[in-house]
Amino acid sequence: MTEQKIVTRFPPSPTGYLHIGGARTALFNWLFARRHGGTFILRIEDTDQARSTDEAAQAIIESMQWLGLDWDAGPYFQSRRYDLYNRAIDQLLAEGKAYHCHCSPELLEEKRSAAKARGLKPKYDGTCRDLGLGPAPGSVVRLKCPATGTTHFDDLIKGPIRISNEELDDLILRRSDGSPTYHMAVVADDIDLGITHVIRGDDHVNNTPRQIQIYNALGVPTPYYAHVPMILGPDKTRLSKRHGAMSVLAYRDMGYLPHALLNALVRLGWSHGDQEKFTREELIETFSLENVGKSAGVFNLEKLIDLNAQYIRETSDQDLAGLLAPFLDAIGIRGVPARQLEAAVATLKPRSRTLVEMADAARMYFDETLAYEEKGDKKFLVPEVLPHLEDLARRLKVMGTFTEAALEDVFRAYLGERGIKLKEVAQPLRLALTGRTASPGLFEVMVVLGRDEVLRRIDRVLRHIEAKR
Ligand code: GLU
Repeated sequence: MTEQKIVTRFPPSPTGYLHIGGARTALFNWLFARRHGGTFILRIEDTDQARSTDEAAQAIIESMQWLGLDWDAGPYFQSRRYDLYNRAIDQLLAEGKAYHCHCSPELLEEKRSAAKARGLKPKYDGTCRDLGLGPAPGSVVRLKCPATGTTHFDDLIKGPIRISNEELDDLILRRSDGSPTYHMAVVADDIDLGITHVIRGDDHVNNTPRQIQIYNALGVPTPYYAHVPMILGPDKTRLSKRHGAMSVLAYRDMGYLPHALLNALVRLGWSHGDQEKFTREELIETFSLENVGKSAGVFNLEKLIDLNAQYIRETSDQDLAGLLAPFLDAIGIRGVPARQLEAAVATLKPRSRTLVEMADAARMYFDETLAYEEKGDKKFLVPEVLPHLEDLARRLKVMGTFTEAALEDVFRAYLGERGIKLKEVAQPLRLALTGRTASPGLFEVMVVLGRDEVLRRIDRVLRHIEAKR
């Protein structure tokens, strides 16, 4: 027997941005397909015309691209596939597995209220089920569901799930305006696209028996189902906006690396021993649905920040410079030569947790209008330091190559001659060069700035101190 080729799908509804929960679902489907050499399909479920927007669809696609979740087919748009759904409905009608229902919304509402008043579950009572009615204005098409027995499936995560068919009423497949319903579209699509595994949030678990009944009526074997537990915030309530930014693009804009977010996402419900960090290849090699737990995953922003800081440190200067460029651009820093940007990045890497922080820290190198931190200005930019800064500037001007080692020699000699400690000149100089009292190592900073800029900044601080006298 040849092994079945695995086909998964991610079918977001474009009614909003791609959020953490959706991204995790996409990732699990993508990983499962990649793990098994299968196919991963993107489908946009835009049948709800009133709530779906092109912008949301675009933002979802952009989020997937940013995360590197590439798809092998699609994006399919449900709004362009009505023929497929209608063919399935017509087939069910022709085979007597679906029927036209003429009950008006008002009548149904009356029946629902009456059932509720008697303490019964409000479900369709099957009035039109066996009347053999044809289509009529305002009529809908319903599935003739089995009246007795059970519908069951073995969820790959939750185990066996069974529901009595008496709980389920004859669901609508085609609305009175002729449009197919959500369940009908999903099933027809999943069949058409050859989906073998449906991996989705467990908020869909109640939809599954209904969808299985449509498969059964169409005489098509059902796919495997894996319902992934929900995601909680650190306070153990369902993850929501209260817990911080929710959209993938917001995390991108806050300066997270896609790989850090991927690692945080995969750990929401899945684990592989105690391992916290995975390369893309490791994820593909080790991902399995057996290791998706039954309990909810907890999204922890602190952990994501830590992870991001680690990945920033591990990324090459060259790659980071590329990633940082749009963030610099956003704060008006443009046209920095690649070599200088890489050198700057190397000094900022150990101290930046996000690309936004890094861009902000990089400002000191490239922003010529550098302002001095007020407290430091008062404390360190005082007339006593003028002779030191003037003398050091003279030495820097004439020294040989402008490297960290050479700078160290120049400073050591100067401090020795004057009998002073580095700290007496370090803070004034740091303020002169960066505007701040905390920065990467002084010599590193000087090398990134280059000799001319260092001298220019010292000159500027000299005039600033003079002006205070
Ligand atoms: N469009 C549905 C959603 O965004 C997904 C349905 C499914 O996975 O079957 O929740």
